[in-house]
Parts: sequence; C-alpha cells; structure tokens
Amino acid sequence: MTNIRIAIQKSGRLSEKCLDLLGKCGLQFEMHKRMLIIRAKDHPVELMLVRDDDIPHYVRDGVCQLGIVGLNELEEKTGCSQAPESPVRVIRTLGFGHCRLSLAHPKGMAYEDASSYAGKRIGTSYPNILQRFLDKNSIDAKAVEITGSVEVTPSIGVADAICDLVSTGSTLISNGLVETDTIMKSEAVLVRSKRELKPEQEEFIAKLLQRIEGTLKARNAKYIMMNAPKSSIETISELIPGMEQPTVMPLMTDNDKVAIHAVAQEDVVWETMEKLKLAGASSILVMPIEKIVE
Ligand code: ATP
Ligand code: ZN
Repeated sequence: MTNIRIAIQKSGRLSEKCLDLLGKCGLQFEMHKRMLIIRAKDHPVELMLVRDDDIPHYVRDGVCQLGIVGLNELEEKTGCSQAPESPVRVIRTLGFGHCRLSLAHPKGMAYEDASSYAGKRIGTSYPNILQRFLDKNSIDAKAVEITGSVEVTPSIGVADAICDLVSTGSTLISNGLVETDTIMKSEAVLVRSKRELKPEQEEFIAKLLQRIEGTLKARNAKYIMMNAPKSSIETISELIPGMEQPTVMPLMTDNDKVAIHAVAQEDVVWETMEKLKLAGASSILVMPIEKIVE
C-alpha cells in the first residue's frame, strides 16, 4: 500500500538535487524514462515526476501529500506562502535552487527607482508575483506573461523590461539588461497539503523531516581529529568553527599530548588547519559527515 506521494520536478534544475536529498534520507528510486510515478524501494512512498508549475496544485488538491518546488513557483501559483489562507504549507527550506526574481531593463532605459517601470510592459513568467509587487508599490505597469525565454523579449519588442529569475546575472548581462529591484528571493522548499492526513502519513512526514534535518546539518559539518599538547586544548577548541564539546583522549605513549576529536558545524578551511598547526596540533584529519541525529 502506498502511504505518501511526493511530487518533484521531472527534469530541470531541481530534479537531481531532489533525488539526491531523498536518497540521503533513505528513499531510493529506480528511475525509468517516461514513467510518471515511481515506487520507492523498501518504503510505501511514490514519487510523482511532473513539471514544476504543476507541483503547487497537486499538493493543494491532495493528489500528492508532499512536494518539492521553488518558492517562486509556489508563490506564483498559490499566492503568498506565509498567508493563513495559503492552501499549502512550507515545512522546510531545503538550501538548494537559490535564485532571485528581479526586475531588469535594457541599458538604454532611464532608471531611478522601481517607479521608473511605470507605463512599461514587463515580460515575465511570474505575472501574479509581479502584479502583487506593482500593486503594493503603486506602480502602474503592465505584466506581459511569457512562457519561455523572457530575457530576449525587450530586444524583439515584445516588452520594455523584464521580471525574471536570476542566479549569477550572466544571462541578463549577455542580453544587455541591467538588474534593478529584487522582488523575491527563492530556494527549493518542501511543501505539504493543509488537508488532514492519516496518522501514518503524519508519522512518515515527521520522520522524513527529521532525516532532512540530519542530512542538511551534516552537509556543511566536518569531523575533525588531531593530536595536540595538553596546554593548547583551549586555544584549539576556540579555533574549530561552531564546535560544541570536543572529545579529549590520552595518547598511549606521550603524556604531554592528547587526541582531540570534534564535530565542526561549518567547513574547516585550510586557513583554520594552518592556525591549528601553529597552535601545536599535528596529524590533523578533516572528514565529511553523512548524517547527524541529535
Ligand atoms: P519545467 O519544465 O519543470 O516547467 P522550468 O523550465 O520551469 O521547468 P527550471 O528552469 O528547471 O524550470 O527551474 C526550476 C526552478 O529552479 C525555478 O523555478 C527556480 O526555483 C530554480 N532556479 C534556480 N536558479 C535558477 C535560475 N538561474 N534560473 C531559473 N530558475 C532557477
Ligand atoms: Zn516550470
């Protein structure tokens, strides 16, 4: 019996990272081209592979109990995700798929502030989010809905400016566009339906959330080990980023030295290792951590 259905993007920027995250949470899927629904190995879970545009509605309507989607797509399809009337609930930001939705204009257009877009046609795939921004700031501009390459619309005369997703900004620059106002910041989020679910479904969601927590925490954390003179334990503890309690153990043959093991909550960069060495540490090892349960 299938307990939970999770909607993710079939193919696009978020697909691989979604599968990677779910895999780290113990949900393995055998992917087959053309298949829309895939059953997990050893878990009563199904993945539904769809266009990202459809995910908010599938979760809202209860076709899927969970979904992973960009906050931008969610807010376009279902309105502000924080609003009490929002039909789906964001239960976790996932730390990938970072981008921003920005206004941009061709180099030649005079710009002072966002009100410079008044009277302009703005090409966008996010007409609802754009309209909410224009209304909130009392800017009388026209949102022109475009599916496809928004960044070329000013050069072909379809729009005067654009409102599009940006990550590095290089696409805008190569199309002669200047980024101005950021309307929203986005990343991938885990969403659930607000409908009442069965107790076993709630249980699964709580467990999955815990595993996601453990996976995301582990992503930047490192396990660090070294030997050090007893006299430097304090200095060394202060150098390890985000460390709580180190384990300090005696060495078999050297009474003046100890072994220090610790979990660093952030990456341990070369500079930190060099400082540790200067503080007297030796045989410094830094290792990745896969999962954390606290
Ligand atoms: P689909 O075929 O599923 O409709 P799509 O073309 O709408 O795909 P993608 O381009 O794969 O979507 O982007 C999916 C999501 O990735 C976006 O909605 C956004 O949340 C995120 N994203 C991260 N960086 C960027 C970027 N530079 N440009 C566009 N989207 C980005
Ligand atoms: Zn899409």
